[in-house]
Amino acid sequence: MTPDSLFVLDLMPSPNHGERRDGRAPDMIVLHYTGMPDAASALSWLCDPGSEVSAHYFVDEDGRITQLVPEARRAWHAGKAAWGGEADVNSASIGIEIVNPGHEFGYRAFPDEQIEAVIGLCLDIILRHGIAPHRVLGHSDVAPLRKTDPGELFPWVVLADAGVGHYVPPQPLGDPAGLALGAEGPAVRALQALLSVYGYDVAASGAFDEATEAVVRAFQRHFRPARIDGVADASTVRTLKRLIDALPDVAGEMLLA
Ligand SMILES: [Zn+2]
Repeated sequence: MTPDSLFVLDLMPSPNHGERRDGRAPDMIVLHYTGMPDAASALSWLCDPGSEVSAHYFVDEDGRITQLVPEARRAWHAGKAAWGGEADVNSASIGIEIVNPGHEFGYRAFPDEQIEAVIGLCLDIILRHGIAPHRVLGHSDVAPLRKTDPGELFPWVVLADAGVGHYVPPQPLGDPAGLALGAEGPAVRALQALLSVYGYDVAASGAFDEATEAVVRAFQRHFRPARIDGVADASTVRTLKRLIDALPDVAGEMLLA
C-alpha cells in the first residue's frame, strides 16, 4: 500500500474494505469523529477484521494523518446511509475519521492543528477527485437517524473559509416555533422537498415523523448549530433555502422557481 496523499505520515493497512460498486469513482467526502475514549483504541478497532469498519484516513488530535485504506477501495465507514439519491455511500465516498471521544465519552472541541490537517487533506482529495463543495458532508448528514458525528462542535465554517464544503451564514435565531414532530400538511411536504433537493434522504410524505425530525436535527447540527431541536423554525428554513440557492447546479433553482 502506498499513500494516496502527500499529507499522509503513517500507513496502517486495515483489512476492512472491498470493491467500489461498478468501479464507481468517489465524488463525496464523509467526515466522522472516532467516538472512542482514545485514539489508539479507535485505530485498532478500525483495523480489526472483526469490527468490519474502516475509513480511508485517520486524523489524530495533533494533526498526524494515517491512511488505512487505499482511496481506490470501498472503505466501510458510512454503514446504512444515503445522500442525493445514492444509497451506497461507501462506494461513492472517501471516509475520514477524526479523533474525538464524541458525545458518549466526553465530546470536546477539535484542536486547531487537527482541523488544519483535515482541511489540507480534504483540499488534496477535492482537487484530485473534483469533489463538489456540497458533497463534503458529516456522517450525521448521510445517516441522520443513527449518527450525530462529527457533531455540533465541528467547525464547518472554518473549513468553508479554507475552501472545503458548502456553507452560508445561518439566519440568526428568532421565534423558536415552527414545524415539529406530529405536524402534517403541505407545509411539511414542502419542507421535506427542500431537504431532499439539498440531498437529505427524506420522503415528501407531508407527515412530520421521527425520520423527518432526525433530518432537521442533522441539518441544524451542520448548518445552524445555535439550536439543535429538530423544529423547522424560520431560521432553519431560511438557512436551508439559502443553501439551495447557492448550489452550483440547477436542481435547486427549479424547485425554488
Ligand atoms: Zn461516523
